[in-house]
Amino acid sequence: MADKGSDTVLKGISGSPGICIGQAYLVDREGVDVVEKYTVRPESIRDEVNRFKTAVKKSEDELIEVIEELPEELHHHLTILESHLALFKDKMLYERAIDAIRDESINAEWALKKVATRAKAMFQDIADPYLQSRVDDIVQVSDRIMMNLVGVDAVNIGNIDKRVVLVAKDLTPADTSRIQLERVKGFVTDRGGKTSHTSIIARTLELPSVMGLGNVSALIKNDDIIIVDGNDGLVIIDPSDETLLEYEEKKLRYETRRANIKRRSKIPATTVDGVTIKLMGNIELAEEIVSVMDYGGEGIGLFRTEFQYLSRSHFPTEEELYEQYREVAELIFPEPVVIRTLDINGDKALAYARENDEENPALGLRAIRFCLQRPDVFMTQLRGILRAAAFGNVRVMFPMISGVEEVLEAKKMLKEAAAQLEAEGIPYSENFEIGIMVEVPSAVVMAERLADEVDFFSIGTNDLTQYTLAIDRGNRKVAHLYNSLHPAVLRMIKQVVDVGKKHGVKVCICGEMASEPANMPVLLGMELDELSMTPQSLPMVKEMVRGLSFSESRKFAARVLEATTVDGVTSMMDEFVYPEENENGTASA
Ligand code: PEP
Ligand code: MG
Repeated sequence: MADKGSDTVLKGISGSPGICIGQAYLVDREGVDVVEKYTVRPESIRDEVNRFKTAVKKSEDELIEVIEELPEELHHHLTILESHLALFKDKMLYERAIDAIRDESINAEWALKKVATRAKAMFQDIADPYLQSRVDDIVQVSDRIMMNLVGVDAVNIGNIDKRVVLVAKDLTPADTSRIQLERVKGFVTDRGGKTSHTSIIARTLELPSVMGLGNVSALIKNDDIIIVDGNDGLVIIDPSDETLLEYEEKKLRYETRRANIKRRSKIPATTVDGVTIKLMGNIELAEEIVSVMDYGGEGIGLFRTEFQYLSRSHFPTEEELYEQYREVAELIFPEPVVIRTLDINGDKALAYARENDEENPALGLRAIRFCLQRPDVFMTQLRGILRAAAFGNVRVMFPMISGVEEVLEAKKMLKEAAAQLEAEGIPYSENFEIGIMVEVPSAVVMAERLADEVDFFSIGTNDLTQYTLAIDRGNRKVAHLYNSLHPAVLRMIKQVVDVGKKHGVKVCICGEMASEPANMPVLLGMELDELSMTPQSLPMVKEMVRGLSFSESRKFAARVLEATTVDGVTSMMDEFVYPEENENGTASA
């Protein structure tokens, strides 16, 4: 008789794509939920501080052991684990906890809980999802110290010897890196999300995972049969025979499709009539380079550098920046990396550099405006970039440019930074292309003049749409109006491409618009030189381009540019991409 099963479906966040089916294995990574508070007598304060330091040291030693045993395929993720190692001694946690023990005469557990809660709150206010994920890092690091303080033993994930699906409250990047792929099929967690470090590692290992499920670890029991659908962010507990069959088929289809796409992702994006467009990846962390390479990206078209500034409590040093830029430049060589200078404030506020609250941050002291007002911060970054340029194919790009004067000033500072390095005898290179983000409408209007000053334009359609249509890109209430296919945005893109052609300046798009395969006929037809996108989108976009004709796309784009409404644009696109679904059956491609 068919097993009915309860088919309990839980919706979470996709941590890493793929489907797996198996027996649940609960990992006791509970941390310590109940923390006692007590007063420490003055004569015992020193011992209490030492107890805290010992717990931190033990936590560090455990992590060092994991790092030393890190499997070869995860070596490029070393920085994730090292960043956790650095967090153990971060001022925000370490010094403040010690201060709290001393100043308030409280026990180490309570002091740690207090400072960790404060640090979490600091990051939680920030809208950027990458930064929100740094909260996970803080929680994981403080949990680890807490377990050592209280004396709870952590499960060693590396010792699991059954073919199982892990179920945990949380998994740290270190836990994930110890997973034995031949044993563990995938995992689900209560906490975490797409941009967490754990999920980045899971994607590299191609381990299906669903995160942010709330209380999955309380709902699932050991040995329960569960299905993990990392594509749709679903977990199904106690599946019926019918559901099992459905997912076995889905799993097979997904794996076949993925293998095909991967096999074909190294083939260039050349249209049926022989025109090739360069497709590159956008990254925020050095760890994402692997995805760009895996998915067939021909370089990094946008390296957002904010992360290194946002994930800490003070400005990074030149040395830290240089090390990271150099790593990226060397790894991607001989392909290029476009390093975008700091684009903070707006939606990515720096807690330690917020001078006064702005009523309209998106129109405020953001990106290049901030950098030009803080030459100390800007020079440090420029020096780091110039030094890294000696090791790879670096290009530099300035964000939020609204007119010629900003470019002139930024270039002047770049020259100054080079002169300083020269005088100090530090190796560097200034022999690279300089570009700007075209994302403010005034830059489109001034493109002719800006073209005299730069080697390339990179259109940031995320902001260009926001500023052109006067729609806050993060405001849900107006999200339905936000669309980069608005005729005004399309016409602006065309205008920039035309200027670029006339002046021999390359034009790229690095906004989200370039990640959508269905947009390819229009973007290809408008004759963009390069596109840079979310790495995971590369294979599908490549596949789409390979199926298109450049000459047909050009004619199509010319027609689309005549459209007067978003609906007009999208219905023409639907008709072009899916002609068989068009009721008249009139294929345009
Ligand atoms: C853009 O604005 O399109 C862009 C790529 O930059 P960001 O999303 O980082 O503002
Ligand atoms: Mg932008």
